[in-house]
Amino acid sequence: MSHHTFDKPGLTLLGLGAMGTALARAWLTAGHPLTVWNRTPGRAEPLAAEGATVARTAAEAVAANRLVVVCLLDGASVDAVLADADLTGKDLVDLTTGTPDRARAHAALVHERGARFLDGGIMAVPPMIGAPSSGAYVFYSGSRALFDTHREALTRPAGARYVGEDAGFAALHDVALLSAMTGMFAGVSHAFALIRKENIGPTAFAPLLADWLVAMSGSVHLTAAQLADGDYTREVASNLAMQVAGSATLLRTAEDQGVRSELLTPYLALLERLLADGRGDEGTTGVVDLLVR
Ligand code: NDP
Repeated sequence: MSHHTFDKPGLTLLGLGAMGTALARAWLTAGHPLTVWNRTPGRAEPLAAEGATVARTAAEAVAANRLVVVCLLDGASVDAVLADADLTGKDLVDLTTGTPDRARAHAALVHERGARFLDGGIMAVPPMIGAPSSGAYVFYSGSRALFDTHREALTRPAGARYVGEDAGFAALHDVALLSAMTGMFAGVSHAFALIRKENIGPTAFAPLLADWLVAMSGSVHLTAAQLADGDYTREVASNLAMQVAGSATLLRTAEDQGVRSELLTPYLALLERLLADGRGDEGTTGVVDLLVR
């Protein structure tokens, strides 16, 4: 709009879903000239009113700027949208969630088409985008030169953590954090199930649960230190023999409360395998080795 100074470099954004729209607003607010395109054109209209240039086709949007960011549903939609675009000389940043192998294959393809490539994994939900205090950030991997060239624009919507030249590393970091979160969500579901039928209010219980998870999260540093030096008995406060004995209490309580234990049993079975291997004086770090095929 008129008060934009336009001294900032312009960029193109393909994909105006929930996340793309949040990214677009962050760039427009910061004064970056922005060209947008979306398969369903109606989603671009509010952004046009906020100062975005709306391209008629994806190829036209790509042609408008050297820096091209895509944030679409999945890899297939990215391939479809970029099919007709001339990528020669472009700096392509893909913020679409995908696997590490997809990112590596896509990087190779994009290089063949004459562009530099940076993959990104967004560690935020849309309301956190463009809010500097939200803690939102994006893992980036691939071309360091691309990242350095466009660092100013790339860090407008959220913080940035560049994790390596291997294009797959951003996705790998993203998926590793999401996988740990999945285990946490499973444990939280189990905990609420245990109190479900009792006169314990979930809203009174929630802060106890949240504080406990935060307190226990520090254990990842001990696990890391043990993995790094290979000594799994170092500084063990809760040894495996004790934990396996405690598992019986967890399972018995689940049964008594009428709660399915299927979220706990696969993990507890791995602890029992370690104990059976004579590793009762270690902690739980050996599970990592059991998981790796
Ligand atoms: P939405 O479902 O809101 O938007 C999906 C976008 O993809 C739309 O622009 C849609 O276009 C487009 N699209 C889907 N299929 C095609 C296709 N075949 N051809 C062209 N365009 C297509 O998703 P989000 O914006 O929430 O997510 C986008 C990416 O961001 C995903 O990879 C997601 O994993 C990631 N992400 C999202 C987070 C979130 O909390 N929302 C958090 C972190 C990452 P159309 O409008 O025409 O349907």
